[in-house]
Amino acid sequence: MVIPEKIIESLVLENHEGAIQLTIEIINVIKSFLKFTLGPIDLKLQDNTIMVLIGPTGSGKSTLLNLIVGLTKPDKGSIYINDVDITNIPIESRRIGYSFQNPSLFPHLNVYENIVFGIRKRDRDNDKLKVKKLVESFGLSHLLDRNILGLSGGEMQKVSLARMLVTKPKIMLMDEPLVHLDIKTRVQLRKDLRRILKEEGVLGIYVTHFEDDVYALADSVSVLKEGIIKKSDTLKTMLTYPNDQSVSTSSISEFFQKDYNYLEGCVTESTNGITTFKVGEHKFEILGDYPISSTVGVLIKPEDIILAVDFVRTSARNIIKTKVAAIDDANIKTGILNIHLVINNVSLMSRITRESKEHLKIVNGASVYAIFKVTAPHIVREEKSK
Ligand code: ADP
Ligand code: MG
Repeated sequence: MVIPEKIIESLVLENHEGAIQLTIEIINVIKSFLKFTLGPIDLKLQDNTIMVLIGPTGSGKSTLLNLIVGLTKPDKGSIYINDVDITNIPIESRRIGYSFQNPSLFPHLNVYENIVFGIRKRDRDNDKLKVKKLVESFGLSHLLDRNILGLSGGEMQKVSLARMLVTKPKIMLMDEPLVHLDIKTRVQLRKDLRRILKEEGVLGIYVTHFEDDVYALADSVSVLKEGIIKKSDTLKTMLTYPNDQSVSTSSISEFFQKDYNYLEGCVTESTNGITTFKVGEHKFEILGDYPISSTVGVLIKPEDIILAVDFVRTSARNIIKTKVAAIDDANIKTGILNIHLVINNVSLMSRITRESKEHLKIVNGASVYAIFKVTAPHIVREEKSK
């Protein structure tokens, strides 16, 4: 069936006020190159969610994005947007935003001209407010007259993302867009990015190989290995540990060998620069002020979690009674161990020396207190209550 371009345009371009639920469905898609096959891929993504795609180099992440945007045609299978088969629709009619590792901007145009480049001239007046809002969201207002060549990497990436978003795509594909930026810029920009994608009601697919990007951005996560999706689920489900006595290492931790603890919860109190948030039954304290009922997500390094077998009074404000679920080697050479702790769906990991483990007689099933200071968690996600 040939779909008139208009249908796709209205499907994909309709702005959020007149919003339609948007679904991308990938059914049985296969793409083979000489030495590599992607698929069969089956994947369904819903309106206004951000899916973070992780996988080793060469696992087919970029190929999958290319198939969705239409740069590559599948050998088999179909891709649907809202039940419309777009498999053979030309790329320009899909109107899907695509951003790459290296932003390609027009050096002969200034920042503003680059941003509005994708808007038809006759629409530019109508879209003025939209452009202004996005420019402000990305903190680009002071740069509008500037030449592209003098911008920092982070600024260029912001311009590139803004340029895409002003065309009001309903879908944005992002292939490691922040990979070349320094850590500070990356942390700030991905925070902005998640907020903006949510505000704009955009369905996003974000490829990364950084663990903290996953926690900062994902609603759902897919793990791609050798062309096959090994796991695809909501971040919440992936991080839920069903049984206090077993560590079902999530695919995320398996992929990254779990370098961080991630806790996400609802803010219940915030006074004098200390915020309390709740994960299930458990309360945790972090530094900073956050609105009551908002959601915060924090990362804690395993090295920052101290274990004690008895309750001890310390200056650390986070003390949680847990059970040892598993012990494994973090580093065989140095004798550092990962101690996996689980209690009521909360999973934590502490990293201690073999000597400490022997000294404290830490074994599977033992009760221990996990202790960390308010300064240990790093906030990676903060969201207003819905
Ligand atoms: P990733 O983005 O996960 O690093 P890619 O999707 O870029 O992986 O590539 C997956 C595999 O497909 C690689 O082995 C790559 O060499 C191969 N590949 C990608 N595009 C082509 C192409 N146009 N022709 C031949 N091989 C390709
Ligand atoms: Mg790639």
